[in-house]
Amino acid sequence: MSLIVQKYGGTSVADVDRIRNVAARVAEIQKQGHQVVVCVSAMSGETNKLDALAREISGNAEPNPREFDALLSTGEQKTIALLAMAIQALGVPARSFTGGQMGMETDSSHTRARIQRIQTDRLRAHLDEGAVCVIAGFQGVDSGGNITTLGRGGSDTSAVAVAAALGADVCEIYTDVDGVYTADPRVAENARKLSKISFEEMLELASLGAKVLQTRSVKFAMRYAVPLHVRSSFKSDDGTWIVPEEDVMERLVVSGVTSNVNEAKIRLRNVPDQPGIAVRVFTPLGEAGIVVDMIVQNFANDGTTDMTFTVPRADYARALAIAQQVGEALNCAAVEGDDQIAKVSIVGLGMKDHAGVATRMFDVLATENINIQMISTSEIKISVVIEEERAEVAVRALHAALVDEAPASPGA
Ligand code: ADP
Ligand code: ASP
Ligand code: MG
Repeated sequence: MSLIVQKYGGTSVADVDRIRNVAARVAEIQKQGHQVVVCVSAMSGETNKLDALAREISGNAEPNPREFDALLSTGEQKTIALLAMAIQALGVPARSFTGGQMGMETDSSHTRARIQRIQTDRLRAHLDEGAVCVIAGFQGVDSGGNITTLGRGGSDTSAVAVAAALGADVCEIYTDVDGVYTADPRVAENARKLSKISFEEMLELASLGAKVLQTRSVKFAMRYAVPLHVRSSFKSDDGTWIVPEEDVMERLVVSGVTSNVNEAKIRLRNVPDQPGIAVRVFTPLGEAGIVVDMIVQNFANDGTTDMTFTVPRADYARALAIAQQVGEALNCAAVEGDDQIAKVSIVGLGMKDHAGVATRMFDVLATENINIQMISTSEIKISVVIEEERAEVAVRALHAALVDEAPASPGA
């Protein structure tokens, strides 16, 4: 007997027929003698609708974070009850649990709460009695009993964290694609499914824009060694296993191309080139809770530098206002912003022992006449900031040149 955690995303529970399809899959596994915890998202589009309602009623103000979470969590609450009913209709005992009911304890950072502890006693008791536990993804409660949510896409993290806490044999992420691809299959037609990908690469891909898994879910799986399998809820074939690096046989130089349009760029022109300037620029941003991602500094001959950085697009207006204040205090020539940018990245373990990948990347972008505004690299990834409009063209061209045509790395 195994303990299996399955997570079904919004498209997989989009309507009654699909919920019945999920129920049939779950019942089948349970009848084979396994214990099953099913974590579900809200029905497709539901979270966006709730978000829009909150914004409509709040007018120009940001919705109150506590009430926003109370509202958004209702999407998942609907699905758990419906799925539990559908499973019961197949003669299998099932019981639904909200985040609070299943012991998902988080901190109090509404809309992006972090899991602190999972009290598994209740789930275990019901599993031991032979019931399927249907749990709400994306939500938890803080120590004051307030409902919290884990950030968009957070059901992946709920599922993996529960799998870790229960010591499950596997965590299966069922979604509308049949695995992790070398690029978003909706953007790059030739993208191909990977049978395995390392935790490290998946972590980079997720944080650089591949929304198939929420970044934090990959971190949990890596930290607690949860076997993670991304697969389709409409097919029964194997999907993609996320595994330790040493278990990846096909070591590609570039195993994924991804883009992210959730950032904005801010530039301070002619900042004095002196010690202590960076700290003056970035301290107020940090104090405002704004996370800066890429930073680039260019030198001029006149003792000044240009400082450019990116921030989450949702924080753009606040960040720009802060940068303008700092700019004035530092006597900068100008403070400029642009929120129509995209960060396009290539990721691959093979880059560690393969020179010249960056040059190839820049060459491909040059051929497409795409201007590179910023560059950042790490051992297994290269990211560039470009104009948002050209993001899809860039992904397709980079995929064609660096994944489709590329040989595997030596030692593969
Ligand atoms: P769910 O609702 O099941 O959580 P998501 O919409 O969050 O599903 O994630 C699945 C989507 O992720 C796919 O439909 C696909 O368009 C997108 N995606 C982006 N990059 C990739 C990739 N490299 N491999 C697979 N899917 C990707
Ligand atoms: N329903 C939430 C969202 O749409 C959580 C999730 O689907 O993972 O972001
Ligand atoms: Mg998702």
